[in-house]
Amino acid sequence: MIHFNVPPFVGAEFDYMQEAVSNHKICGDGQYTKICNKWIEDKFNAQKVLLTTSGTSALEMAALLCGIKPDDEVILPSFTFSSTATAFVLAGAKLVFVDIRPDTMNIDEKKIEQAITEKTRVICVVHYAGVSCEMDTIMDIAYRHNLLVVEDAAQGVMSAYKGQALGTIGDFGCYSFHETKNYSMGEGGAFVINNAEFNEKAEILREKGTNRAQFFRGQVAKYSWVGYGSSYLPSDLNAAYLWAQLQEADKINSNRLETWNQYYMSFKRLEDEGMIQLPVIPDGCIHNAHMFYIKCRDLEERTNYIRYMKDNGILCVFHYVPLHSAPAGLKYGRFNGEDKFTTKESDRLVRLPMYYNIDKKDLELVINKTISFFKK
Ligand SMILES: *Cc1c(COP(=O)(O)O)cnc(C)c1O
Repeated sequence: MIHFNVPPFVGAEFDYMQEAVSNHKICGDGQYTKICNKWIEDKFNAQKVLLTTSGTSALEMAALLCGIKPDDEVILPSFTFSSTATAFVLAGAKLVFVDIRPDTMNIDEKKIEQAITEKTRVICVVHYAGVSCEMDTIMDIAYRHNLLVVEDAAQGVMSAYKGQALGTIGDFGCYSFHETKNYSMGEGGAFVINNAEFNEKAEILREKGTNRAQFFRGQVAKYSWVGYGSSYLPSDLNAAYLWAQLQEADKINSNRLETWNQYYMSFKRLEDEGMIQLPVIPDGCIHNAHMFYIKCRDLEERTNYIRYMKDNGILCVFHYVPLHSAPAGLKYGRFNGEDKFTTKESDRLVRLPMYYNIDKKDLELVINKTISFFKK
């Protein structure tokens, strides 16, 4: 069986975890958490980074820091994971879904402005498959309407837009280190703060509403409960696991890109012959090969393709059911304008096996079986 995903493992994970145990420091904000934060800050030129328990909790921190008031609205795509939406619902926001572009499956920046009302506070973009949204346009809209921008860069670690790392362009960025992502700590994530005004509030939010971080830096004489918050800091054991992978980040990234490029080149003819569509990487975007997807003619052909691949021992999977048509989406949000592409394009999309160090023979089998399905 060729799996759809195999979590990355580079070898040093257990050594670092063992060291954390020997140092008697396995709770949050130990040495591994700190070196991971620092590494991400340096590598991506980020103002401040805090590891979190998940990408979802990073999104929750972002939503809380946005200072949502009852009835405030957040603009986001419907083609995304539930976490993007539920983080803002927890903060009390109403969701306004905007259609996607068919080429990147990202929010259509040209349709954002018409969704803005007096109640809009935030634009939350999702960089699908680690390919950037059109951030120049989106940041300009946010500036002109005085809105905050949250980047759900859960899939975008190591990707960039016009030279800037994804997650460092808006006000806040959210990464995921779930086992299905390019770099993993089992469950985990990181919160990126691009405006230093929010640093202190973010630390308090992450540590149960206390000013413990300031206390450890010697900025206050004792620490106390100073505001609302939760527990968003991960165990140092998980950070130790992640540290092994961050050290190999470039190697993992180029290995994944190699696989992505091989898929792309092998399927180019199918696309030229009008049988499938391949992902589009716009100019100025550097992607991280988080995902390789193709688009079939329609839902029926996709169902047949997934079944055919499964019969050949290969697991290919579809992706999000659009949130605006899900039970919670109907309750907490509305779709602004026409759903021209969200449902239609998500029905056609299918993801192929993609993970670090995929076996070359397995990759060839996936490619050959795909070609034979569409040629038949
Ligand atoms: C994975 C993912 C999340 C959630 O991340 P977790 O670490 O699993 O909580 C959020 N948004 C998107 C787009 C994702 O792909």
